[in-house]
Amino acid sequence: MRYSALSIVKNALSGNRHWKPVWREREPKKAYDIVIIGGGGHGLATAYYLARNFNLTNVAVVEKGYLGSGNVGRNTTIIRANYLLHGNNPFYAHSLKLWEGLERDFNFNAMVSQRGVLNLVHSDAQYDAAARRGNSMRLLGVDAELLDRRGVQKYAPYLNFDQERFPIQGGLLHRRGGNVRHDAVAWGYARGADARGVDLLQNTEVTGFKISRGRVTGVETSRGLIRAKKVGMAVAGSTSRVAAMAGMRLPIESHVLQAFVSEGLKPIVPGVVTFGAGHFYLSQSDKGGLVFGGDLDMYNSYAQRGNLPTVEHVIEAGMTLMPSIGRARLLRSWGGVMDMSMDGSPIIDLTPVKGLYLNAGWCYGGFKATPASGWCFAHLLATDEPHQLTRAMGLDRFERGHLLDETGRGAQPNLH
Ligand SMILES: Cc1cc2nc3c(=O)[nH]c(=O)nc-3n(C[C@H](O)[C@H](O)[C@H](O)COP(=O)(O)OP(=O)(O)OC[C@H]3O[C@@H](n4cnc5c(N)ncnc54)[C@H](O)[C@@H]3O)c2cc1C
Repeated sequence: MRYSALSIVKNALSGNRHWKPVWREREPKKAYDIVIIGGGGHGLATAYYLARNFNLTNVAVVEKGYLGSGNVGRNTTIIRANYLLHGNNPFYAHSLKLWEGLERDFNFNAMVSQRGVLNLVHSDAQYDAAARRGNSMRLLGVDAELLDRRGVQKYAPYLNFDQERFPIQGGLLHRRGGNVRHDAVAWGYARGADARGVDLLQNTEVTGFKISRGRVTGVETSRGLIRAKKVGMAVAGSTSRVAAMAGMRLPIESHVLQAFVSEGLKPIVPGVVTFGAGHFYLSQSDKGGLVFGGDLDMYNSYAQRGNLPTVEHVIEAGMTLMPSIGRARLLRSWGGVMDMSMDGSPIIDLTPVKGLYLNAGWCYGGFKATPASGWCFAHLLATDEPHQLTRAMGLDRFERGHLLDETGRGAQPNLH
């Protein structure tokens, strides 16, 4: 079923009784050409682009819970392409371009809203770094505007400009960044993949791999063995656990990241704002809730919930930047498990096991990457060649020492 203004009118006139389920519930087949583990944003986008770009539809997405139960439905919905390094920036620029045409492409309203992302700066050194980043972005065709203090005052007057420790000196504004309704992204890709013939298998956990002579031949699941010529892993926070079933130890740690949402308020924050002197960022949802977050909980964990010290840390930073936030009541908070790589950048590559492919290491930032990640992972699965946009994202970069260290913090996954 294609959604259109006409279909909305027709269904409204017939009591909305004729809408079809957005995807089918399928029984697993015995074998597929390609099995993708993980029905999050990346797994579903990969299945969609395998079908759309390569006409490969004998494909299954195997998800242990329900589609979108992982980080794709837990993130703070920010998209952006404000990267400095040439190994990262063209990839995220491509992702942003895909976001811009996504809803028309998969015929689903994902509420893509390019309302701007502003990174604040609080010192001369930060101002210089922001200018450098902005120049790098513009050279690669991504928009960036360096604002001075007055420019920020005009753009975001509700901030606290006169904090004594961290006065706001300016900011780097990336107007094409913004927010997207996160679970609608999972649903849109799921619907598009299903419509092209991909099987979406919910409540199907992968419990092991079938590997024969160094080549993967299938996956053991809670619904039985599924044979496959190729298997792609896109399990985000569970990457280390799933890779261990194939005998691999990866340069990835799992950490908890929390997010918070306030009660609904009148519109006050038009875009995304990030604090440059503490761990805090904020936007306002279409329902009016202030959506904000900060840093990792700083210990390894697979639990989808965090702890109170980080709550305090985030709220303190929020109060410093925007004291009026203290009047709002907190509605909900939650956590997600981050697949933190050693250099803070992702891995999209082949693995030492033939026929087994890896998509991981998304750290805090995998939501904005969803379209490009699916696009490039589908390319890798279909052709066995890394896409040119992910050439710097290989697994062997950690052995070769060619890291993709955007923040310059070295092999310290909790600091990226
Ligand atoms: C609080 C928070 C805020 C964030 N904010 C942002 C943001 O603003 N912008 C941004 O770009 N990124 C953000 N992120 C990061 C982003 O959400 C993730 O990097 C991204 O969603 C990860 O990819 P995914 O969507 O495929 O993961 P997921 O949705 O987690 O998908 C992985 C799936 O694999 C499944 N799985 C795991 N093990 C198995 C198994 N054995 N068998 C079968 N299935 C399995 C899981 O159930 C899960 O559904 C945030 C994350 C969190 C938690």
